[in-house]
Amino acid sequence: MVGFSNELLGAKYRSAVQNATVRHPLRVKRAVASPPTVSPPPTGRARDEPARGEKCLLDGLGGRTSKSTQLLQIHLPEIDPETIMAVLRVFFAPLLVVQFFLFAGEALAQETAWMTRAVKFLSSDELEGRGLTTQGIGRAAVFLRDEFQAAGIDLSLGEKDGFQNFPFAAKSKLGADNRLELETTLTPEQDFTPLAMSGDGEFDLPLVFVGYGISAPDLEYDDYADVDVEGKAVVVLRHEPQQANPHSKFDGTENTRHAPLSTKVSNAYQHGAAAVIFCTDQFEIEKRAANAKKRLKAAIGQLDEARTSKESKEEIAKAKKRVKRWQGRAEGDHDELLAFSAGKSSMPREIAVVHCRRQAMDDLFAAAGQPFLSELETAIDDGPKPRSFELVGCRVRGNISIEREIVDLVNIVGVIPGKGPLAEETIVVGAHYDHLGRGESGSAAPDSKQIHNGADDNASGAVVLVEVARRLAQRERSSGRRIVFVAFSGEERGLLGSAHFVRNCPVPLESIVAMVNFDMVGRLRDNKLIASGFDTATQFEGWLDEINERHRFQLAKESGGFGPSDHATFYAKQIPVIHFFTGAHSDYHRPTDDFHLLNLEGMRRVSQFAVDWIAKLATVEGEIEYQQVDRPSKTAASKNPRPYFGSIPDFGSGGVGYAISGVAPGSPADDAGMQSGDAIVVLGEHKIGNLEDFDNALRKFEAGDKVPITFTRGEERIESEVVLDPPR
Ligand SMILES: [Zn+2]
Repeated sequence: MVGFSNELLGAKYRSAVQNATVRHPLRVKRAVASPPTVSPPPTGRARDEPARGEKCLLDGLGGRTSKSTQLLQIHLPEIDPETIMAVLRVFFAPLLVVQFFLFAGEALAQETAWMTRAVKFLSSDELEGRGLTTQGIGRAAVFLRDEFQAAGIDLSLGEKDGFQNFPFAAKSKLGADNRLELETTLTPEQDFTPLAMSGDGEFDLPLVFVGYGISAPDLEYDDYADVDVEGKAVVVLRHEPQQANPHSKFDGTENTRHAPLSTKVSNAYQHGAAAVIFCTDQFEIEKRAANAKKRLKAAIGQLDEARTSKESKEEIAKAKKRVKRWQGRAEGDHDELLAFSAGKSSMPREIAVVHCRRQAMDDLFAAAGQPFLSELETAIDDGPKPRSFELVGCRVRGNISIEREIVDLVNIVGVIPGKGPLAEETIVVGAHYDHLGRGESGSAAPDSKQIHNGADDNASGAVVLVEVARRLAQRERSSGRRIVFVAFSGEERGLLGSAHFVRNCPVPLESIVAMVNFDMVGRLRDNKLIASGFDTATQFEGWLDEINERHRFQLAKESGGFGPSDHATFYAKQIPVIHFFTGAHSDYHRPTDDFHLLNLEGMRRVSQFAVDWIAKLATVEGEIEYQQVDRPSKTAASKNPRPYFGSIPDFGSGGVGYAISGVAPGSPADDAGMQSGDAIVVLGEHKIGNLEDFDNALRKFEAGDKVPITFTRGEERIESEVVLDPPR
């Protein structure tokens, strides 16, 4: 499942760097290609890796491919062990019957054994958390492909042996030529650093100081109100006004949504700026200084204590080291550079973004006869009142070079062909198999470099996917819809795999009548199974209840199709969806989401439910009726309501602007004449480079506002007007 974010709807679908736009002089390059991530099939099997065929028979554990097992499975797919044990306890049955049930129990045990070993393998350290740049994810892909094949489903739909490849710019690093010249020439990584969200290229620009770089009409505060920044570099303080004031309209001592770096870059971009130079605010510097002093004092206390209580030499040496470290920090100027990866953005645009130490900027301001940054900050905080101005006669020159590493990701695609009159319709069943590697972006433990094994998220779903495919492939059927199984990659980085799948769909997209997603189905507790999206088709609720009569879960039906996982991509195409989920937990996106915490029996029961559910979808006659859900799903809810526009984002599109995959019927976007494939480039006065720009711009308006809008359709540039609806 992708990260929950309180920043904006689109943040859940952050797709990092892809198909970046190119425009001179600042542009985004897709420069450095790296070898594809997918490694050849592993030559030696891992200890825990479930073996297939002969080996299963040999070791007698994973014998689900043996004939006798298969026969029993066909006859007894729905009896769970508790039932069997209860029957055995209650009745003294003839020997034959007892043997029959014992066989059944054994078959079930073996089947659970396969799932156990598969999920254990996928969540083992050897697979390196299935991070997008690891060899481990390649092994997972090969493993799942082989399991699909063994399950007896057809792999010919994929481009190559069931694989569907797509490129992704997974990593970026500083390139060779990064320069910045203010009053003097600065040293990269010492005086300044470009940020990963920056575009790259050469620039020579006039400079404008824009305070905190915030435009907040809701708070009647706008640093850009009286300055023209078009084609210029803006100097921006980090954070926001009045951080020490608990009564500030900027949420007192908490940061508001205007503080994040990405929001400020977005705001600068929308105002036409060509570069953003961040400087750390004085308040932050003082906070760090105070903290360092406190820590130094504490360290000295610990050293004294160690000496008086005559602790071991090692302990005293450790305490000394601590004192030294904090002494160093306390003496520094507390103006450390941000990490290259600081701030997030769905897509870099043609705007340079750097963080610069204050000294260089103060020198420039002094040369221009202007106050120091700290004085300006105090003046702004006094109001708060913007103090923006152009630095007449000053220029900033430089070059940004960022190398973006492209990796090849793969979806794995298998199919059970349709039969009879429904054969040309499709049910898609999916689960993502990627996870966070050693944390990467999206980790809930961002400082940890431990492997995030993702046993529940989503080794569990990937294994249930294969299990369900196997069971369905074994069923004889005379008629039914085609069932396409997809193990998606790149989900954690913004639903990339499902976005690629729908854009390059191996079956006609119009043929897909429903989608079923498994994401985090490994922690069944209190018998509670969540089926989210029950209202995305008119018939789903009734069918879910009907099937649950046999399975007896505490079925929690949740509304909406835009939950934070791959089914959202399909719902955006107006396809009814159900997402199966066994609930959130504190190990979510942490290194502790491990195998031993899984409920394997629960996974087996979820598989059985899903088999019945998919069989129903595949065979039911008549149309599965899509239903638009007006209520936004819980996870998509935002703290800051914005007027309703009615666009459906295209989660993976490249190109300039905010691309949409469709509009809600009768919505403002619909009335403005927009359609699937359009990309918004201007809203009101605001330039739009990506989804965040659009979201931020939209929040500047109110329901009922009539706003000019410009969007592109292919080569065409269309100007229209949109009347915004109240927030939903
Ligand atoms: Zn996740």
